Parts: sequence; C-alpha cells; structure tokens
Amino acid sequence: ERRNPAEPEFHQAVREVLESLEPVVEAHPAYVKEGVLESLVEPERIIKFRVPWEDDQGNYHVNRGFRVQFNSAIGPYKGGLRFHPSVYEGIIKFLGFEQIFKNSLTGLPIGGGKGGADFDPKGKSDAEVMRFCQSFMTELCKYIGPDTDVPAGDIGVGGREIGYLFGQYKRMSNEFTGVLTGKGLTYGGSLVRTEATGYGLCYFTQNMLEAKGKSFDGATVCLSGSGNVAIYACEKATQLGGKVVTMSDSSGYIYDKNGIDLPLVKQLKEVERKRISEYVKAHPEAEYHEGCAGVWNVPCTIALPCATQNELNEAAAKTLIANGCIAVAEGANMPCTPEAVTAFLLSGVQFGPAKAANAGGVATSALEMSQNSMRYSWTFEEVDEKLKDIMKGIYTSSAEAAAEFGMEGNYVAGANIAGFRKVADSMLAYGLV
Ligand code: NDP
Repeated sequence: ERRNPAEPEFHQAVREVLESLEPVVEAHPAYVKEGVLESLVEPERIIKFRVPWEDDQGNYHVNRGFRVQFNSAIGPYKGGLRFHPSVYEGIIKFLGFEQIFKNSLTGLPIGGGKGGADFDPKGKSDAEVMRFCQSFMTELCKYIGPDTDVPAGDIGVGGREIGYLFGQYKRMSNEFTGVLTGKGLTYGGSLVRTEATGYGLCYFTQNMLEAKGKSFDGATVCLSGSGNVAIYACEKATQLGGKVVTMSDSSGYIYDKNGIDLPLVKQLKEVERKRISEYVKAHPEAEYHEGCAGVWNVPCTIALPCATQNELNEAAAKTLIANGCIAVAEGANMPCTPEAVTAFLLSGVQFGPAKAANAGGVATSALEMSQNSMRYSWTFEEVDEKLKDIMKGIYTSSAEAAAEFGMEGNYVAGANIAGFRKVADSMLAYGLV
C-alpha cells in the first residue's frame, strides 16, 4: 500500500490473490526467494498519455489514457480497454492484475494487460466517439502490436469503438493485423466473440451446478447490468432453461416476473443506447426501481452480477442467501466485495469468481487472434464448441487445484492457484528479468 498509494481496488485484488497463494508458496518457497511474487505485483510497464479531442461544438477536451502491460510471461499482453469516468491508474492496475491469472487459466498463450481512459461515451455523438478513439489510438499504436499487446473491449468499449480504434491503427501502421479483438465480422472479427463472456459465464455456472447434481433448468436468475456481458448471459441462461427476471444499469433495475424480454433489451441498449427504465414502457406489468443495488433483493436461485466492481456487498449477499440463492457467478470483474465472497463461501453457496467465470471473453479473443494469424475463420458452432471446452477446462483446473490444497469447492482459491502456477513457473524459468 505504501508503494501504490490511493489504489484501493488494486490492493483488494492483490490481497485476495496473495491470501489464496499462501499454501502454494509454503510448499514452493522458490516463488518468494527468487522474486516471483515481488515481480508479479509490479507491472512490466505502465503507459499513461493525454488524449485531446474536439466535441461537435468545437470545444476542446483532454482526457487521460492508460495501458498497463502487466505480465507477458506466457504470451503477448491481452486485456480490454475501459472508457468510463471512474477510470484511473488503480482501476486499470486491478483489472490488469486479475487478467494475468484469468488469461493463464484459459490454457491459451496470453499475458495480462488492461487499458482505457476516463472518457464517458454516454451522451456523445458517433462523431465525437470517433474523434476520441482516433486520438486515443494515435498514441496507443506506438506500444501495441499483434505479437506484443492485443487490446479488446470492456465497459464503454464495444463494436463501434473497436471499429474506430482498429481503423486508426491500420491507418497509422499501414498493416492489417489482428492487433485488436472484438472486431466486426467483415474485418477480421470472430463469430461468438460478442456472446462469449456471457455464454462462457453460463457454461462455467453449468459445470459448477452439475458438480452438485443441479442445473439452470427451472431456476430463477437475477442478473445485473444490461451491457455486453449481461445481455448474452441472459440469452444463454434462458436457453439453458433458466428464467432471468432482472437486469439493471447504473440508474436502476427492472424486475419482470414473466422473464426478461431480451429482444427488447437488445433494441434499447445495443441499437438505441437508451436507459433500462424504458423497458417498462413496453411492459407495464414489469417493475422499474431507481438504484441498481436493490436488484439483489429480488429472490432467485442463481445470481449473476454482470455490471461493475464492488456492486454486490455483504448485506446483499446475506439477502441472497436468506432468499435461497444456491449459486453466484461473477460476469463482471470483482463485482462481489471480499465480505460478500466470504459470506457465500461460509454459507455453502457455490461461488464462481470472475477470473474463472468470465474468462470466456478473453479466451474467444485469443481464438480471434489465432484465426487472424491463420487468415481463416471458424464457424459459429466450431468457436462455441471450443468455448464450451475451455470453460469446462477452467472449471476442472480450478476445482482440482482447490482440492489439491484441501479447499474442495473453493473456486476462488482454486482459480488463483491454477492461474498462478503456469505464470510463476515461466517466470522462474526466465530467471530475474
Ligand atoms: P458494458 O459497457 O457493455 O456494460 C456495462 C453495464 O454495467 C451497463 O449496464 C452499465 O450501466 C453497468 N455499469 C457500469 N458501471 C456501473 C456502475 N458504476 N454502477 C452500476 N452499473 C454500472 O460493459 P461490459 O458488459 O463489457 O462489462 C461489464 C463487466 O464485465 C465489467 O466489469 C467488465 O470488466 C467485465 N468483463 C467484460 C468482458 C467483455 O468481454 N466485455 C470480459 C470479461 C469481463 P450504464 O449503461 O448505466 O453505465
């Protein structure tokens, strides 16, 4: 904390990982003696830059851009870009740190990184977003490349932004390479990438439930968020037999006891970029409540937080438990506070941590990189099958690592340990670098 002052989210992420690693480090003291742990918490490189842009009225603005290239021990840096006013160095460091273990868990050769800007795309015109993205990439392009660092989307960065960013990279470098993932299907994107994080979240949850002889079938599902992850988690949870009854945005949440009308949510959020409150105009029998935190008061069997960090606290966890929730899996990054996670683990609620449960997005991004390198595209079914296998692999390695250290069913510890070992052993092999 002394070396990284005023970065509470980064401290929270590091503390959780280091606590889980205690038994591993006890068994293998070389990880400490040879400096692996000390290096692991220090990014290889942080790039911080100004992003000047002009709005439609001719006013000038300057935002701050970031790319944290955290760890490249097992492959090129890989991780999304977040455009949100809350972005500062500590948020990007927490996300980049988590990304190292998540990417390792996928079994694919990708290192950890993350980036973004404190820019708010909300209420901006397409032309303003384009000018911002072009200015952002004009600087970022100096530090990334298909074998160096391959950014993707995250909060506030979807298909539209990736298009503007990729177009600018291509123009600056005079090369058509897979330097970003989440691209449109006409210019190198992969089928299933849009759906991957939400679908993968449900595949992971399904594996977790099956271990206890349960399934989505007939379950009531509470979901938060209404962005990329939430929309496709809703789609897959419904396909698997669950009934999703809530979705939210940063203003409030909707509760539709008949099950969410997903085509309407897609239209409102993906096409019209409107607020979730508009949902009740078409469905007056559904409820809209101001304040997104209340979403966890709705009784459910499965909860999937898919909005943002620390959106589900201890009080919300206790309400979920009291209402009979049996499984929680994190679609967003670190949506549950440490106290909430402890409450779930102690009460026997099955808990899928973000590093494992939402890794389907980055895994499919790595599949997009492979297809770009081969200059070839797989079908939707082929990519979806690979995604299912990867999520099963992540579930199995997390479960096995937890069991190996006597923490059966604790996927938090299991995911941290399994993700850590591959990275740490590679770092040991390199010596002090
Ligand atoms: P989007 O920008 O598409 O959607 C974000 C959703 O969360 C919106 O509904 C947004 O509401 C809500 N939200 C954002 N910030 C807040 C906040 N401070 N309080 C309450 N609600 C908020 O992002 P994604 O769906 O891509 O990302 C959601 C989460 O999933 C993030 O934690 C991200 O890091 C994680 N993730 C995303 C992956 C991906 O492939 N996209 C991969 C792995 C993890 P509003 O519109 O009002 O802001």
